[in-house]
Amino acid sequence: MGQTLLQKVWDLHTVRRLPTGQTQLFIGLHLVHEVTSPQAFDALRQRGWRVARPDRTFATVDHIVPTTERRRPFLDVVAEDMIASLERNCREFGLRLAGIDDDRQGIVHVIGPELGLTQPGMTIACGDSHTSTHGAFGSVAFGIGTSQVRDVLASQCLALEPLKVRRITVTGPLPAGVYAKDVILAIIHRLGVRGGTGFAYEYAGDTIARMSMDERMTICNMSIEGGARVGYVNPDETTFAYLKGRPFAPAGEAFERATAWWRLVASDADAVYDDEVVIRAEELSPIVTWGVNPGQSIAVDERVPSPTDAGEEPQAVEDALHYMQLTPGSPIAGLKVDVAFIGSCTNARLSDLREAARVVKGRHVAPHVKALVVPGSAAIGQAAEREGLAETFRDAGFEWRGAGCSMCLGMNPDKLQGDQVCAASSNRNFKGRQGSPTGRTLLMSPAMVAAAAIAGEVVDVRELV
Ligand code: SF4
Repeated sequence: MGQTLLQKVWDLHTVRRLPTGQTQLFIGLHLVHEVTSPQAFDALRQRGWRVARPDRTFATVDHIVPTTERRRPFLDVVAEDMIASLERNCREFGLRLAGIDDDRQGIVHVIGPELGLTQPGMTIACGDSHTSTHGAFGSVAFGIGTSQVRDVLASQCLALEPLKVRRITVTGPLPAGVYAKDVILAIIHRLGVRGGTGFAYEYAGDTIARMSMDERMTICNMSIEGGARVGYVNPDETTFAYLKGRPFAPAGEAFERATAWWRLVASDADAVYDDEVVIRAEELSPIVTWGVNPGQSIAVDERVPSPTDAGEEPQAVEDALHYMQLTPGSPIAGLKVDVAFIGSCTNARLSDLREAARVVKGRHVAPHVKALVVPGSAAIGQAAEREGLAETFRDAGFEWRGAGCSMCLGMNPDKLQGDQVCAASSNRNFKGRQGSPTGRTLLMSPAMVAAAAIAGEVVDVRELV
């Protein structure tokens, strides 16, 4: 019987089965950032331990870095302390760091692939939920908490529960104005935000096969929002072409050898899955979230549900509508937005910026909207400058920022104020996620955010391009 990629990678990295039923898994790459690592390093220091595999550990700064004024020391003493701790820890433990002034700096899930650190068949861990992004390369990638960051630093291993595999097959062409973000929002809406609990999601089908690596990363990034700890795409020619020539990817003959092995880790044609779901891409429209989790979404031309027709617990729907100040049955199109945010590890790659720039070119941001573009990495920012995308955004009235997590989570100066409504290309619309306890987030594709910035309200991007 054939095996899935998850089973193959899991077996290859198994150190031993634990009496608890968990597996002790070797971790091929540990990505570290400033927020979830300080206590983990302190724990090592207290016990006199070293980092087990500095050669398999790479750090950067993203969550708390300001995206405007980056001179040190930062005005925010907590942020300054976190960055200084990471710098000190990397020096003391001999780890590679893409720091604030490094050309390789950026959001951890953007720079891992960009540098070629992320490779097929690997196990990857990082102290951030959206580590599932790296699964786009056919790796098995887990978001972990601070105590597990300590465990991986100390032992390069993790104790994990085995996962079932659900294959999600996406078929057919993507209609104009519909993007990878809409596909994953549709998947989460259909299967629910807890539907993936206990599963790894394998994304397959001709739609996924045609997607670029950037698009696959958007899909895998949000697996965790559907409850799946892991999401992956089987590696193929698109994956290998992306990796070739990247700084940390194998080079020359080693690349050919690696490619031969990477092909073998893909799921076998006769692999057996614990569950199968099919999504028809041609039936999708641009999607917008109306509620307080990424599953509470509708097509842009639909109306906000009422508590009894949303297919969810009525009380939860009522609560979400109340928080979002929305009336059941009202159209989502036309809802005024105060802020437009193009950024995050979901949708701040070069191709995302290109699509958004196509929408804003020759137009201007509505007077009442604060609009910002935050590239996912310094390298993407530089490439966007070279291509003239940054100029397009600036001319249209967007603020052009330095790389970081920015308004995805409000752990830095970029925050919503009061109950502002934000059209966001990020991945979470939880209450207070963007830094204001009453801020309201509408998740959508970067092109839809760009369209909302121009119109000053939620609008169907298909009307603009
Ligand atoms: S952009 Fe958002 S989701 Fe991604 S790593 Fe930063 S805070 Fe986490």
